[in-house]
Amino acid sequence: MGKLVIVGTVAFDAIETPFGKTDKILGGAATYIGLSAANFNVDTAAVSVVGGDFPQEYLDLLKDRDINIEGVEIVKDGKTFFWSGKYHNDMNSRDTLATELNVLADFNPIVPDNYKDSDVVMLGNLHPIVQIGVLDQMTKKPKLVVLDTMNFWMDTALDQLHEVIKRVDVITINDEEARQLTEEYSLVVAARKIHEMGPKYVVIKKGEHGALLFHNDNVFYAPALPLEEVFDPTGAGDTFAGGFAGYLASTGDVSFENMKNAVIYGSTLASFCVEKFGTERMLTLTEDEVNKRLQQFKNLTQFEIEL
Ligand code: AMP
Repeated sequence: MGKLVIVGTVAFDAIETPFGKTDKILGGAATYIGLSAANFNVDTAAVSVVGGDFPQEYLDLLKDRDINIEGVEIVKDGKTFFWSGKYHNDMNSRDTLATELNVLADFNPIVPDNYKDSDVVMLGNLHPIVQIGVLDQMTKKPKLVVLDTMNFWMDTALDQLHEVIKRVDVITINDEEARQLTEEYSLVVAARKIHEMGPKYVVIKKGEHGALLFHNDNVFYAPALPLEEVFDPTGAGDTFAGGFAGYLASTGDVSFENMKNAVIYGSTLASFCVEKFGTERMLTLTEDEVNKRLQQFKNLTQFEIEL
């Protein structure tokens, strides 16, 4: 079985969408990535930090899905990372209302010994110094290192972000962030510039318009499944990344051809995540539902033209 180590936030989120509002609920990049990767046959560990205010039942949700949480530090007298966001009517754009780093501000990640030789390292969204700290602990060169990040870290830690970008194989980033990072409007040009920064593979997520995978001059496009109802897009990007990394870790094949399948799995899992608030939908997801939706994806994009 492939081994996957994930680093990212485990958080409290407060979300507002046109459909409703939540108080502090379970969120965080590592949470969504872990719940998504749990749909594959992989040995997964999460590395993160929470405060003494974090409910044990949330940690149990991860444990129950066989995610190793030895590397999730609990700072008893600290407060958990808190993020709050509000979506606009089109659900494609959101405003961040609050980002409170709390225990994340002085976090030193510790990768459990048994995961220092992981096949795939998924560097989820958090401070680039923490992401570098995880890479430095690996005792064997991973088959694949995947990085996800966001505009917050471009605004507050750009130099360190460039340091980590240099060291990864794949970056997953949304379209606006790709434009911010490269100062290019064209996503094709932006992807080329990101290649030059280090990553051989660049995945640009375009929300309800799907995702593009670039590798040198090759491009693959996966649409997002047209859904009747998008309830809450929070965590869709992380769920995509978790599906992508989980699939690659479970197959052990990190070729461009197999990455196309990984993008489809990522899009499929993300399409479930947005159907309910927060992590709710991912907690009830079954293999059968995933397979049915993969079939819908196939039908959506298959056509016969004789050339
Ligand atoms: P996504 O919708 O995939 O971009 O991810 C949303 C998740 O990212 C939420 O659960 C937040 O807790 C988490 N998040 C928001 N801002 C940050 C940040 N600056 N660093 C790390 N995680 C964050």
